[in-house]
Amino acid sequence: MSELKAGFIGLGAMGWAMAGHLKRVGLLAGVANRSAAKTLAFAREFGVLGAADPGELAQHCNVIALCVSADADVLEVTRAIAGAAQPGTIVVDHSTASSKTAIEAQKIMRAAGGDFLDAPVSGGVEGAKNGKLSIMVGGDADALARVRPALEAYAGRIAHLGGIGAGQNTKAVNQTVIAGIMQGIGEGLALAEALGLDPAVLLPTLSGGAAQSWYLDKRGASAMRNEFNVGFKLALMHKDLGIAHDLAAAAGVVHDVLDKSRSDFAELMAQGHGDEDVSAVIRLKRRG
Ligand code: NAP
Repeated sequence: MSELKAGFIGLGAMGWAMAGHLKRVGLLAGVANRSAAKTLAFAREFGVLGAADPGELAQHCNVIALCVSADADVLEVTRAIAGAAQPGTIVVDHSTASSKTAIEAQKIMRAAGGDFLDAPVSGGVEGAKNGKLSIMVGGDADALARVRPALEAYAGRIAHLGGIGAGQNTKAVNQTVIAGIMQGIGEGLALAEALGLDPAVLLPTLSGGAAQSWYLDKRGASAMRNEFNVGFKLALMHKDLGIAHDLAAAAGVVHDVLDKSRSDFAELMAQGHGDEDVSAVIRLKRRG
């Protein structure tokens, strides 16, 4: 591929910071987003093209990264890009979606003379801001080699897991593991509150031993302060766990943790907490 001209679609909690890193390394040509206000704000702040839609952005780029909400958004945006893209354009999808969607999106881009990589990320909004995301890629190795300089702008680690969909399958495993960690932290910290333990002493003590985890370090104190306004919307996690559940059910393996977590997040969404961080699961653990 000649010189990379990158576009970014989806300027939310993750995407805004990731697109900012592409600008920092000099690769960002423009951005787009569903709500125009974010596109305009980003374009003004960073001095890049703020495209009206994915099709307009595609006319100016040869690699377009996505970090949108869910499967339907990935397919909608990919179709719009394919309708306007120059041959050779590669779409790199950082959203968490299903491997089925990745396979479908690759077909769409290949029919347009381009390619598609599934490349979900882990590391949270902190990882996006400090450019240290772990990226799990599925798809063609040559396509990854071509876009790698763009991904390096916000990656701490880039792993090629296999063919198309392998990145999303890895992310489903990642979310299954995290669901269990969050259940444990929610119950443990609710118990600590009930026992009157001091968070200022408790949390560093737990983090200094075998209970240490990213979630405990980054979300333990805020959860005990009842602050859930930053991070990863639990409605998005509910969507991720649906993907993991379907994979686990099809594979015939146990999915008890996924079932419990999905029903907890559904309950919180029904109570109007869907936009809160996933650590809000502690709300359900306090009431017993
Ligand atoms: P978010 O804050 O809700 O941002 C999503 C962004 O995508 C919004 O700006 C939204 O536009 C835009 N968007 C959605 N659908 C679109 C479409 N069809 N066309 C154009 N733009 C569209 O979500 P996020 O936390 O950044 O997460 C984004 C993705 O990354 C999700 O798949 C999530 O599961 C995954 N993820 C999140 C985290 C995390 O810690 N937050 C970590 C790893 C992975 P509007 O302004 O119109 O809403």
